[in-house]
Amino acid sequence: MNPFCSFSIGDCRNWLTQNGEKSFRADQIFDWVYVKGASSFEAMSNLSKELRAKLSQCLAFPVLKQVRTLESEDGETIKFLWELSDGKKVESVLILSGDRRTVCVSIQVGCPARCAFCASGKQGLKRNLTTAEVVEQVLHIDRFLKEKGERVSHIVFMGMGEPMENYDTLVQAIAIFHEPKGLNISQRRITVSTVGVVEGIRRLAEEPLKVNLVLSLHSPNQHLRKKIIPYARKYPLEEILMAMDEYAEKTKRDITYEYTLLAGINDGRREAEELAHLLSGKQCTVNLIPYNPVDGLSLKRPEKDSIEEFRAILEDEGINTTWRYTKGKDIAAACGQLALQN
Ligand code: SAH
Repeated sequence: MNPFCSFSIGDCRNWLTQNGEKSFRADQIFDWVYVKGASSFEAMSNLSKELRAKLSQCLAFPVLKQVRTLESEDGETIKFLWELSDGKKVESVLILSGDRRTVCVSIQVGCPARCAFCASGKQGLKRNLTTAEVVEQVLHIDRFLKEKGERVSHIVFMGMGEPMENYDTLVQAIAIFHEPKGLNISQRRITVSTVGVVEGIRRLAEEPLKVNLVLSLHSPNQHLRKKIIPYARKYPLEEILMAMDEYAEKTKRDITYEYTLLAGINDGRREAEELAHLLSGKQCTVNLIPYNPVDGLSLKRPEKDSIEEFRAILEDEGINTTWRYTKGKDIAAACGQLALQN
């Protein structure tokens, strides 16, 4: 059975005509699912009983089951745990910041990248998520927000998994999120974060939808990067940075580099100076993320003073920085900090 949420509106039109129905029904169904927030085909009162029955018989919807939600103490982050049809579990995080309603989505169960500081990669990759499993994370959270008169405004692919390793799903999900007759989320409000998969970055630059791209850099040189990020062995830093520059040039988007600060490993003066040198002259922002402790790892978060010093060195060299105050600490709901439940 095809899952409904894997369909772009074009796929939905094709499906309808192949099944002897009028293609314009796709617009009505998209409106029900993505705008009105219907949770079953049964609820679609302007469709005939027969069509509703056919849809329910042939298309799986929904495919995600909400297991539980966990709200952080400050109320600014809500973690959603979903169960998949094979019993595996994944998480998404809703981040409330000013009037932004950002969903941090997962793209895989587990992660193949196995970065030293990350909870998601601890057990490696379990499996890719399907498009419907990615799309429904946002759809269900949008429905949750709708009850309070709000909508999802931004999407970041920074949950579990490496987006470039589930590329077709990534691109299809972006198209569905962007669909004007559906959630209608602008390309500028969608962000993909990658560990640095060169061919993925190059392919994404050729796509019609130009989303924001973030590189998880975490180190100013290849030598140190290889120690923190196993994937660095496959993709040399120089090549990744070239691909990122090409992406910026093609899409006219500034680049963001994420830098998770690990005490005594990549947070010294020397690394800051080297990083400033590496990025000098680039139109970019460095997002500094103090390491969030993960159970079973002996890494440490740097002291506030040393983070300030690191930041000052970059700023003095004219490099924009943001310091992401990591939300949701008490519920371990920071993006990229989502652990496999079982
Ligand atoms: N695989 C993608 C997206 C998921 S990780 C990537 O590597 O970019 C999203 C972000 O969260 C990355 O920048 C990652 O380095 C960061 N992150 C993961 N675990 C973290 C932790 N324990 N503390 C701080 N940042 C973390």
